[in-house]
Amino acid sequence: MSEFAAMKNQNFGTLAIHGGQEPDPSTGAVMPPIYQTSTYVQTSPGQHKGYEYSRTLNPTRHALEKALASIELGSHGLAFGSGLAAVDACMKLLKPGDEVISCSDLYGGTYRQFVKIYEPFGIQFHFVDMDSPEQVTSLVNERTAMIWAETPTNPMLNVIDIPAMATIAQAADALLVVDNTFATPYLQQPLTLGADIVLHSATKYLGGHSDVVLGALVVKNDDLAARLAFIQNATGAICGPMDSFLVLRGIKTLHVRMDRHMSNAKALVAHLNEHPAVEKVFYPGLESHPGHALATRQMRGYGGMISFVVKGDNHEDAVSVVSAFKVFTLAESLGGVESLAGHPASMTHASIPKAQREATGVTDGLIRLSVGIEDIQDLLHDVDSSLSVLL
Ligand SMILES: *Cc1c(COP(=O)(O)O)cnc(C)c1O
Repeated sequence: MSEFAAMKNQNFGTLAIHGGQEPDPSTGAVMPPIYQTSTYVQTSPGQHKGYEYSRTLNPTRHALEKALASIELGSHGLAFGSGLAAVDACMKLLKPGDEVISCSDLYGGTYRQFVKIYEPFGIQFHFVDMDSPEQVTSLVNERTAMIWAETPTNPMLNVIDIPAMATIAQAADALLVVDNTFATPYLQQPLTLGADIVLHSATKYLGGHSDVVLGALVVKNDDLAARLAFIQNATGAICGPMDSFLVLRGIKTLHVRMDRHMSNAKALVAHLNEHPAVEKVFYPGLESHPGHALATRQMRGYGGMISFVVKGDNHEDAVSVVSAFKVFTLAESLGGVESLAGHPASMTHASIPKAQREATGVTDGLIRLSVGIEDIQDLLHDVDSSLSVLL
C-alpha cells in the first residue's frame, strides 16, 4: 500500500493527484509517458525490468492501475478496454451453476451481458429491488456466488445499503461487487464499506471528458487480485496506453469537477422540483427521495445525475423536451464536463423489456440529465426553454 492509500478521505484531492504515482524512472517525466510499445527487451531469456509483453503489463496502464487502487483505497487496480469488459472479467470468476443476485435497476449493458451472454453459459441471475435486504437474503442459497449492486442506480438514482449487502455476501460466502460509476470514489469508497470488488466505467466521471472508453476493477485482497489479473491477461480485454493516460489525467481533476457537477445539480434540482411541466424529480439529495437518509450516511455528496418525469409521463413529450435542449447535448453516456440529456426508455434502457423497465420506474416520460460543469445560469435557461414546449 502506498503512503497515500493510508490518507483519510479529506485528503482525496492529494490522493487523486499523487496517489500511486511517481515520476517516470527513466526520464523523470512528471506525467507517465504513453508507452506505445507491445514488447520489452530481455537481456537474457527471462531477464527484464518487470515488463515482458503489453497485454500482461504496460507501464502507462500500470500507472493508471496504481492510481485506481489508490483513490478507491484498495490494494490492486486493473484496467480494461471498457466498463463492460470489466463486468465480463467479474463474470469469469464464476462457473456454471453459480447464482448472482443483482439489483434490478441496472445499467442496460450490464443487464444485457448477464442475460444474453452468461445465462446461456449456465449462470443464473436474480434481479431484485435491493431497497429491502430481506428480499436479497431470501434469494441466498448454497449456489449464490456473487451479489451485484450499482449505487446510486441508473437511472432512478436509488441508493443501496453497501454495508447491509456486505453482511449478506459474507454470510453467503459470496463476493460483493459494487459498480461505483455514478458515485465515484470522491463520494463513496465501497471497499471501505465491505465490498470485495469495485467496478468503474471510467468512460464516465473518472475520464471525465467524454474522450475515452475504459473500465476498471479495484480490490483489496491479494488472491482476488491474482485471479482477476490472470483473467485480464488470459482473455486480453485490456486498454491501450493512450486511453490509460487519458483516464490518469482525468482522475487528477475528479474532485474539482465533482464539486461543480454537484453544485450545478443542486441548483437544477431545486428549479425542476418547482417547475409546472415536471411531475417528479429523482435525486438522492432531495429529502423526499427514499434513499436520502442512506445516501447522507454512505456518501459524501449526492452526485451530478438527475432524473425527472415530464408532466403526463408520456413518450412524445419527453422526446420533444430532450430534442429542444441547446446546451444539454442529446447523447448516451454521462460524467463528462459537458451536460448531457437522455431518454432512457428509447436510449440506454432500450434493451430492457418494457414491463421490467417500467417496474423499476423507467417510464416513457423519464428524462436523465448528466449535469456538466458549465455556468449554471445557462443550464437553468436551457431547461426552462426546453420545458416551455410543454406549457
Ligand atoms: C457506462 C456504464 C457501464 C459500462 O461501461 P462502458 O465503459 O460503456 O463499457 C457500466 N456501468 C455503469 C453504471 C455505466 O454507466
